[in-house]
Amino acid sequence: MTHRSRLRTGDQALVREINLSVIMRRLLEHASLSRASLAEVTGLNKSTVSSLVHELIAMGFVHEVGQTSSGVGRPSTLLELNPRAGYIVSCELGVDFISVICANFSGEVFWRVKENTAGSQGQGAIIERTLALLRQAVRAGSSECVGCDRLLGIAMGVPGLVEQATGTLLFAPNLRWQDVPVQAILAEHFPGVPLFVDNEANMAALGEYLFGAARGANEVLYLSAGVGVGGAVVRNGQLVRGTTGFAAEFGHMTLDPDGLFCNCGNRGCWETLVSQSAVFRLIREAVASGRPSSLVPLTGGDLERLSIPLVVEAAQGGDEVALSALATVGRYLGIGIASLINAFNPDLIVLGGILSLAGDLLLPAIRTEVSQRALRWNAEATKIELAQHGFDACVMGGVAALLQAIVLEPGKYNLLHRP
Ligand SMILES: [Zn+2]
Repeated sequence: MTHRSRLRTGDQALVREINLSVIMRRLLEHASLSRASLAEVTGLNKSTVSSLVHELIAMGFVHEVGQTSSGVGRPSTLLELNPRAGYIVSCELGVDFISVICANFSGEVFWRVKENTAGSQGQGAIIERTLALLRQAVRAGSSECVGCDRLLGIAMGVPGLVEQATGTLLFAPNLRWQDVPVQAILAEHFPGVPLFVDNEANMAALGEYLFGAARGANEVLYLSAGVGVGGAVVRNGQLVRGTTGFAAEFGHMTLDPDGLFCNCGNRGCWETLVSQSAVFRLIREAVASGRPSSLVPLTGGDLERLSIPLVVEAAQGGDEVALSALATVGRYLGIGIASLINAFNPDLIVLGGILSLAGDLLLPAIRTEVSQRALRWNAEATKIELAQHGFDACVMGGVAALLQAIVLEPGKYNLLHRP
């Protein structure tokens, strides 16, 4: 074989892999479609589309789902991604919880578990517990996802900086963990399984883009406010990672140079003003200064037991202390968001994390600050919405990330063995 023909063969295989990916991506974002409409939207000719679809059906990633019913012409067969192509396990290792789901190839969740954790358990015990829950999920996937016994991958979101090349958690300020080789640990326990490890906000942003509030948006900023504040940017469906992969750490923008110390080592970071601990701190201060609050009886008199659901319950019942804490945090959220709108000119900001449970109470204050502080031309172009998957945004994002990876290289994922 000459050098020239070897190159050509390589080119043809590459073109075919790219075309398989183009078809899969269309079906992921716009299902259901007929072969004819796939040819139309991709610009590929009909016989090429038929042959690509034939291959994807043989791989199990695509299936036929009935016929078009439009009156004109012959009805044509519709295609979709096959929900039974396999199952995906996705996990969020949070600061104070572990959440694991099993989803099919359409992103439908058919198994889930969530456990609270405490930092005092220690890193080793929390990781062991996470691995045990993942093993449960894999077992559930192979037994409960009837007809889809192929494990397509395990995704894990973590609350800190992740080195993309190795899947190492470099720094998780609120867990106080450093240099944990998360992906290597997973690879040891789940050999041969495709793995995806990322920052929780990055994963959540992808989840909202593919399955939630940000579907079809071009420039999305995602904010997750909980124990800390995470952020992510999704541009045309892809995460914007920055030079070394750590972009969008919005929670550590300095908003108050003389402010409270942050777990990152700096002081006055945005997250010291807008995380759940900021809400709890404002409530404790108000109660300590003698203001009455229904949160005292709701927590059995122990304000260390405050939680966002309790604060929302109190606020919805008209509790002034809870309402005022949320208004203050909403105001600081709005101040930071106004700057982000000026910096990024996004079409959509999605607010997730546990604080989004209080979204309806926070949004008025956020919108007031944004309308006063962001440049009018920018502010008018930006919608602010709550994450559709709320607390599940991150685990749904793990499913989205693996789906994107499979859609990009279906041939590679087709070779996975069935456990
Ligand atoms: Zn910080």
